[in-house]
Amino acid sequence: MTIGGATRVFGIFGDPVAHSRSPQMQNAALAAAGLDAVYVPFHVRPPELAAAVAAVRALGLAGVNVTVPHKEAICPYLDRIDPEAELIGAVNTVVHRDGILTGYNTDAAGFLRALAEDLAFVPAGRRILLLGAGGAGRAAAAALARGGAAWIGIANRTPERGEALAAQIGAKLPGTSFATLPLCPRELAAVLPRVDLVVNSSSVGLRGEVFDWFPWENLNLSAAVYDMVYRPGGTPLVRDAAARGHRAVDGLGMLAAQGEEAFFLWTGRRPSSGLMRSVLAESVAK
Ligand code: NAP
Repeated sequence: MTIGGATRVFGIFGDPVAHSRSPQMQNAALAAAGLDAVYVPFHVRPPELAAAVAAVRALGLAGVNVTVPHKEAICPYLDRIDPEAELIGAVNTVVHRDGILTGYNTDAAGFLRALAEDLAFVPAGRRILLLGAGGAGRAAAAALARGGAAWIGIANRTPERGEALAAQIGAKLPGTSFATLPLCPRELAAVLPRVDLVVNSSSVGLRGEVFDWFPWENLNLSAAVYDMVYRPGGTPLVRDAAARGHRAVDGLGMLAAQGEEAFFLWTGRRPSSGLMRSVLAESVAK
């Protein structure tokens, strides 16, 4: 790659950021598209977020991704927030065009695409159990409700957070009915027989932890499992689900799909099909 006077600069703001795989997949896609552009990681600590957003304007960065812990905190510093990001309450992609910074959330679209592509699952009319109610859970709940899910049960370790999420998305998208449940076997066992999909949006599994109490015997064999977590060698939840005969995948497809959606917002072009995913798969396997 040759950096020149006209090279456009994209990046990612996070704390930490060194672990991010986005630079690998975005730079591969920019190069494959023959674009004069580069994508770099920026370690932005929370007290520096306002200055970092001002730098996007001052330095003319073309766009940035935003990751933990800035996805919610960045919203007040932007000029516009896309309605989907507004509903989710978090931004993971900023587009800088004509001096205007607009925030988007591509996690939701990426999640729906991954469900369709990896599990052939479409949420319309379906019943879904969502484990977790953090940033990823918010994107999932909004995407599933927007996709016409009939029922979403939210089970979160801190019940108030699950209740707040159900109330907020339920008020905006009344076509989906929401329930909140404690994250424990007895309550989950009662709803699982009527569930079509289980989604893990909690960070359980990131370090190899297991829901060892999960009442698998109550889940229909036809139900699928989507784990937003990904790690080398797969996640324990996906392994457990697959061992019991469920269709189950980890979050690699979502990570690639949210990156592809961000690339499209920035460049108006779709990246080479499958490129980001194969770069990610290779990087995670290392
Ligand atoms: P977050 O906002 O910090 O939320 C973390 C969630 O996990 C909360 O619901 C939290 O419950 C729950 N949790 C944490 N430790 C737990 C434990 N020991 N037992 C039960 N629940 C626990 O994080 P996030 O941004 O939503 O990310 C969550 C996970 O999704 C991470 O593993 C992240 O890597 C993954 N993710 C994947 C993608 C992708 O593209 N595949 C995109 C975004 C996120 P409390 O509310 O009780 O704290």
